[in-house]
Amino acid sequence: MKRVYNFNPGPATLPLEVLQEAQAEFLNFADTGMSIIEISHRSVAYEKVHNQAKADILELMKLSAEDYEVLFIQGGASLQFSMIPLNFATKKNPGSYVLSGTFSLNAYKEAEILGVGEVAASTKEENFRRVPRQDELKISDNAAYLHVCYNNTIYGTEFHYIPETKNIPLFADMSSDMLSRPIDFKKFSLIYAGVQKNLGPAGVVLVVVKKNLVEKSLETLPTMLRYDTFYKKNSLYNTPPAFSIYMVGKVAAWIKNSGGLEEMAKRNSAKAKILYDVIDESKNFYRGHAVKDSRSFMNVTFRLPSEELEKKFVAEAAEKNLVGVKGHRSVGGMRASIYNAMTLEGVETLADFMKKFAKSNS
Ligand SMILES: *Cc1c(COP(=O)(O)O)cnc(C)c1O
Repeated sequence: MKRVYNFNPGPATLPLEVLQEAQAEFLNFADTGMSIIEISHRSVAYEKVHNQAKADILELMKLSAEDYEVLFIQGGASLQFSMIPLNFATKKNPGSYVLSGTFSLNAYKEAEILGVGEVAASTKEENFRRVPRQDELKISDNAAYLHVCYNNTIYGTEFHYIPETKNIPLFADMSSDMLSRPIDFKKFSLIYAGVQKNLGPAGVVLVVVKKNLVEKSLETLPTMLRYDTFYKKNSLYNTPPAFSIYMVGKVAAWIKNSGGLEEMAKRNSAKAKILYDVIDESKNFYRGHAVKDSRSFMNVTFRLPSEELEKKFVAEAAEKNLVGVKGHRSVGGMRASIYNAMTLEGVETLADFMKKFAKSNS
C-alpha cells in the first residue's frame, strides 16, 4: 500500500489509525449490520457516536458542559461567517473584526454585506505577515463581539496570545488549529472550526459556544440560520452529516488516547521547529513568509529564490512522496501543513529534502 506524506492544507491528512478503524468497522457498524452512512440518525447507535464526540471535545478543551455547548452545523466555516453577524450583530452593536488574512477578510465581508461590521485592526498593508498585536486592537465599547481568525491557514501565521477584550465576547475561527494545543478556551464565547483541516473529513463545522449566547435567536431569522435551532435539538433538528461527525469523534478519541492537547502541542511545536530551523539556517535560500513571533505551528509558509526553483521543488518533492507543498496563490511559494496527524517522520523527510534541495540548487 502506497501512502504519501500529505502536506495539503485541507482536506488534509488524518491519523492512519483512525482511517484503519473506520475501514475495519465500515460494513458492519456497532453490530447493526449496516455502515455508519446507512443507519438512521435517530438510532441509538448513532446517538451514542454523536454525544460521545461532543463530550470528548469538551473534555479536551477543559470546558464544562454546564456552560458550553458543542454544535454540529453544515455549510463549512464559510457559513459561520454569515451566521455570526446574522445572529449577534446589529447596526447599534456591530461585530468587530481583526483582519489577519483571507478568511478573516471573508468573515468581515459577510458582516459588511449586512452593514453590521467594523474593523478592529488589520495587517493587510504588511501582506498579513503577522497577526495584529494587542496594543493595535481598537474595539468600540458597543461591539457585539470581537472576531479573530486564530490560525491563518494561507499566510502561515497564528495568534500566540488571547486578545483582551474587556467584556466584549471573543469569537474565533479556529478551523486550522482547533485542538492542536491547549488554550484557555474559557476566554472565548464562540469558537468554530471547519473540521477538514485538523479534525476530520469535510462536511461539518464544530461550533463550541457559551450556552447563554445561543439559548434564543432573533425571531426574524430563518430556522436553519439560527443557532438556537441546533442548540435546542442537540444538532439533530435535521439530518446531520453523520459520517463527518463520526470521524471527528474518532479523531477526538485518538487525541485523548495520544495524551490530549498537551501532547499535541509538544508534537506540533517540535515538528514546526524542525521546518523553521531549516528555513532559518538556509542562508536566505528559504525565506519564511511569517514574522517570527506570529509563526504558525500548523502551516509553514516559505519562498525560494525564484519561481523556477519553486516549480522544481514541488516536482522533486513529489518524487519523494511529499505532496501538497505548493503554497496558496496569494502568498506564492510553498506551504507545508503539519496538522496533528502529520507524523514526525513526514516532517523529518521534508526537512531532509529541503536541506538537500537548497544545497544542490544554491
Ligand atoms: C479553510 C478555512 C476556512 C473555510 O472553510 P470552509 O469549510 O471551506 O468554508 C475558514 N477559515 C479558516 C481559518 C480556514 O482554514
